[in-house]
Amino acid sequence: MTTPTIELKPSAHPLADAEREAILAAPGFGRHFTDHMVTIKWTEGRGWHDGQLVPYAPISLDPATTVLHYAQEIFEGLKAYRQPDGSVATFRPEKNAERFQRSARRLAMPELPVETFIEACDALVTQDQAWVPAHGGEESLYLRPFMIATEVGLGVKPANEYLFLVIASPAGAYFPGGVKPVSIWVSEDRVRAVPGGMGDAKTGGNYAASLLAQAEAAAKGCDQVCYLDAVEHKWVEELGGMNLYFVYGNKIVTPALTGSILEGVTRDSLLGVARDLGYEAVEERVSVEQWQRDSDNGTLTEVFACGTAAVITPVGTVKRASGEWQQGGGEPGEVTLRLRQALLDIQRGTAEDKHGWMRKL
Ligand code: PMP
Repeated sequence: MTTPTIELKPSAHPLADAEREAILAAPGFGRHFTDHMVTIKWTEGRGWHDGQLVPYAPISLDPATTVLHYAQEIFEGLKAYRQPDGSVATFRPEKNAERFQRSARRLAMPELPVETFIEACDALVTQDQAWVPAHGGEESLYLRPFMIATEVGLGVKPANEYLFLVIASPAGAYFPGGVKPVSIWVSEDRVRAVPGGMGDAKTGGNYAASLLAQAEAAAKGCDQVCYLDAVEHKWVEELGGMNLYFVYGNKIVTPALTGSILEGVTRDSLLGVARDLGYEAVEERVSVEQWQRDSDNGTLTEVFACGTAAVITPVGTVKRASGEWQQGGGEPGEVTLRLRQALLDIQRGTAEDKHGWMRKL
């Protein structure tokens, strides 16, 4: 089936420059949206059709639309960065497009061709490029592609109609006051995902399932939850929205993919960046016992979390039911900051893009 090209129907009333500039001065995260969105429909027997770029606006759904009842939904998150020459580039959009296809397969949804996913992101960023913050800081334009089941009816089955959309939101620096370690609550009773479940798909249900554990972490005075495997409650998986890395001097380790971990684009990129910088970067199982023991005996030198939103976040205090420990001296570690800078430099176009990760528009 052929895929549509995106018809441009831009707004006659985009936000005034002064108002947009005021938002870009302090965008926060996910609070403001650009002037446009892209929508593409999928209908059984017809495939993808009616791709268009239109003014950002509410969508109207029948109360019996299946996504509202059975959560057949998937999404992505990626960023566009202003480059030193004033142009705009997105970071590895094909990786997000491929993960979106894997998520679609898991949720019994149609797969959007990689090139259509990229075309949709390109069209929105090109149209709304005035919303990409200036070069220099860590600000970016966050893109949120997503797909919902739009068939109307209460039967539990894969829908015969879907809507794909891309919206965009300017994102401020994650650490406006400088990079600070986060505290982690290791949940030994609640799990995020199970073998055979959908932990490796980016679907809303996984995030709905994480909210209570996140609230419990907050009640323990922690910023984020770390999930363990659902069978032995022993192996470290990931945080609610970030993957983890463990630094042993010159060797850096990220938990091996199990099917219940989301395969982060940042996680993958850091394996490459770390090797470029001469570290040994490996994927291995890490137990919570090992984490606590090696932190206590000093062989584990740093721990950090990574994801599109924060790029890299150092981990400081770790708490579990049986006790707590402190990773590092309350300051971000040297390797953590070095990797963070190296990846940011590629994204902001101030370092050579030797892997060809930046898509210039
Ligand atoms: N794990 C989870 C559960 C996430 O939601 C995210 C954010 N997408 C990540 C890891 C990090 O993935 P990425 O580096 O692609 O943002």
